[in-house]
Amino acid sequence: MKKTWMVMAACSAVGACWPGAYAAEAAQMVGPAFPDFQTAAQVRQACDAGLRAAKARVTALEKEPASPGWIGDYDAFYSATEDAYGPIGFISNVHPDPKVRDAAEACDLRWQDFFTNASQNAKLYRAAKASVPVDDIDRETLRLALETFEDSGVGLPPAQRAKAKQLSNRISLLGQQFEKNVRDSKTKVEFTDEDLAGVPEGVLKAAKRDAKGRALLGLDYPTYYPVMERAEKAATREKMWRAKMNEGGPANLKLLAEIAKLRRDYAKLFGYDSYADFTLRRRMAKNTANTTRFLDEVKQAVTDGERRDIADLREAKAKHLGQPLDKTTVTRWDVAFYTERLRKERFTVDEESFRPYFPPQESLQFVMRIAETMFGVKYTPVPAKLWHPEAQAYAVSDAATGKPISSLMVDLYPREGKYNHAAVWSYRGGSTKTGRVPQAAMVVNFDRKGLTIEELDTLLHEFGHALHSNLSNTRYALNSGTSTQQDFVEAPSQMLEDWVFDRKVLKLFQDVCPTCKPVPDELIDKARAAREFTKGSMTARQHLYASFDLALHTAGAPEPMALWAKMEGDTPLGYAPGTMFPAGFAHVAGGYGAGYYGYLWSLVVAMDLRTAFSADRLDPAVGKRYRETVLSQGGQRPPELLVKDFLGRDMSPKAFFDYLAK
Ligand SMILES: [Zn+2]
Repeated sequence: MKKTWMVMAACSAVGACWPGAYAAEAAQMVGPAFPDFQTAAQVRQACDAGLRAAKARVTALEKEPASPGWIGDYDAFYSATEDAYGPIGFISNVHPDPKVRDAAEACDLRWQDFFTNASQNAKLYRAAKASVPVDDIDRETLRLALETFEDSGVGLPPAQRAKAKQLSNRISLLGQQFEKNVRDSKTKVEFTDEDLAGVPEGVLKAAKRDAKGRALLGLDYPTYYPVMERAEKAATREKMWRAKMNEGGPANLKLLAEIAKLRRDYAKLFGYDSYADFTLRRRMAKNTANTTRFLDEVKQAVTDGERRDIADLREAKAKHLGQPLDKTTVTRWDVAFYTERLRKERFTVDEESFRPYFPPQESLQFVMRIAETMFGVKYTPVPAKLWHPEAQAYAVSDAATGKPISSLMVDLYPREGKYNHAAVWSYRGGSTKTGRVPQAAMVVNFDRKGLTIEELDTLLHEFGHALHSNLSNTRYALNSGTSTQQDFVEAPSQMLEDWVFDRKVLKLFQDVCPTCKPVPDELIDKARAAREFTKGSMTARQHLYASFDLALHTAGAPEPMALWAKMEGDTPLGYAPGTMFPAGFAHVAGGYGAGYYGYLWSLVVAMDLRTAFSADRLDPAVGKRYRETVLSQGGQRPPELLVKDFLGRDMSPKAFFDYLAK
């Protein structure tokens, strides 16, 4: 049984263009209204009712014999569970009331148990196995469904099957606790105003103060990054950085160690020595050896660049502090600060200077405008009561036909207890067979004063996931949008990542906000040049995360913290004793176990996809072809074929390695 996929990142004060957008036709939410959960009791009631109905559907489906139409009925069953489970699974991450979040989490675990049972249901499995597909889409959908049944342990002897279920439920519970520890962390780091010299005034003004008048800073992105990039005092940056590195705390290290061990036990039930071997056989990468080889190639390609970057930072630090180079070492908490200084010095780019150009609400309109230009769709705001008064709903329609195709919810700003990275929950899949429309929610955490260009890029990345859901046009909900291979799912998002550094693309900002001041062309050019700078060390960091995740899930059963200290210790900047990065590494504790390499793997695909847009990123003809061959297809065809359909040739890593070598 598949579970809902999550892909893990009022008018603003600046610019008064927003209310005008409502003047469009009185559009409505496409698909069902978002369920209104005000109390924990409502969540529990909905949970009970949803599970009761789902169990009745399993009983009905068990009676259905194998047939060419079986997969359609299985998909209808899946859709019904998604309707009951999807919004509840999602609000556990964003609802402002902690009691509602707790109730949603408890419900989530009951659903995970249900999904495991359904996937271990031998009657359903037999019917799936005996059903004969009528065409390639049915064949692929049945193949994927059979994999899910088999990977849940339906074919194991009863005792091992029970063990698989027990392990699976326990892993869900521990993963949930891990994420909760990060999300509900109320860490505040206290600083005097003197400590915060160099930090933008807005951060100080927004901060709460303790009895001694010290500013209490949280670890949310709009607070964390300005301190790391701008605080003149190394001690201030170190204190902030250490607090961030310890988010999740020792409790999460224990959870992660247990999760990794349970995953290995799970793989062993199926005759695999490691969880990586077990899980990678279903991915584009196919096995641990291919993944390791790929990561080694990346490492080779970035080693020199990383060394060069650090030498540059070291020089900048020596100059800044007026001390000899041989007495200067770069620390982890120096990286963002001196990178920012060098960006300013070499490229005269100051990230903070972009905020006035990119107010948050208008930035959202802007990324939607990009989609409208490239893909022939239209985003229209619609009234809706959602989980928080600031959350917004949009109807998506096809521009040529006016046909409503999907809905998108958006939650832009940080608040306590809210998921603190950027992510999209595709909580409802679409199906052309039943006329079911997809719905998704995009959750980000931006500064109300505006976005930097890097943050605008992050927004477009997440929006890329939302598009994958919004423009899905698959036969079955099972394959809708982001329900695709985990090492492909980032590609459509990453493809759009350099769009905001394009002059022509940025001109669209004035379409959605005529009163916003246009970003000068030369500033965009500089930002693009500055972006290339440090790509060696940035990619090396991604390589470290991916290698750590893979090593954690290999046969050797390493202890996570010791493994991390060793692996980070082997990098040029080393490991800072006392820190525990893995305690906050929610990807690995959650659904990305032995899957983090997928970010780099997908980037290879993304850069290859980009080559088709090299002459004009907004080309509507190429956009249309991309929408039809890739985005609309979700997971109903293998990713290799989608890319081949779009590019007219086999996939190639050339663009990626050329970029790293440049
Ligand atoms: Zn992503």
